[in-house]
Amino acid sequence: MRLILLGPPGAGKGTQAAGIVEKYNVPHISTGDIFRKNIKEKTDLGVKAKEYIDKGLLVPDEIVVAIVKDRLEEADCKEGFLLDGFPRTVNQAGALDEALTNMEVSLNKVVNINVDKEVLVGRAVGRRICKECGATFHIEFNPSKEEGVCDKCGGALYQRADDTAETVSKRIEVYINETQPLIDYYKDKGILVTIDGQQDINKVFDDIVKALGA
Ligand SMILES: [Zn+2]
Repeated sequence: MRLILLGPPGAGKGTQAAGIVEKYNVPHISTGDIFRKNIKEKTDLGVKAKEYIDKGLLVPDEIVVAIVKDRLEEADCKEGFLLDGFPRTVNQAGALDEALTNMEVSLNKVVNINVDKEVLVGRAVGRRICKECGATFHIEFNPSKEEGVCDKCGGALYQRADDTAETVSKRIEVYINETQPLIDYYKDKGILVTIDGQQDINKVFDDIVKALGA
């Protein structure tokens, strides 16, 4: 199963990715992770990417695509993969298609987890994080037993400074503007499946499995 997972920040992508990886026995390829790995191991591409990152510039598509392509050619991707965080643009999607065609494989599905903006804002604004252990809670959906205190370690809970309604709202708008052309691209190809991400997380996963038809 060769898959791409799309979804705005706060859509529960991490949880669903973990479920997909387990059920379909495919590696989870997060572009953030493979970038960090290439930089740490000082690969040619990692060194190049770091030059841009250190200057606060976006890493050009050709480097991003080359790093992903290297990863997809590793043995564990032979039977499939779950791509997360890539592609971000139609240009990258085209380059990915080309790379897969050269490998004589193709994408099965692009799973798009859809959640209304208002709901995403509510999820982010209510989030509380433990200062000590990093555990996350939600004042409404997953409250700690004692207000402001971590269930796991007793540490103090805090709200991230950028989890305000205004910044979250902006973050989501940027995501939507950036991603809509990509969603249209895969819709045109007939491989996009849109999943209602506002349901119970188990139901979201069931819907993904149904949409993948396996
Ligand atoms: Zn804690």
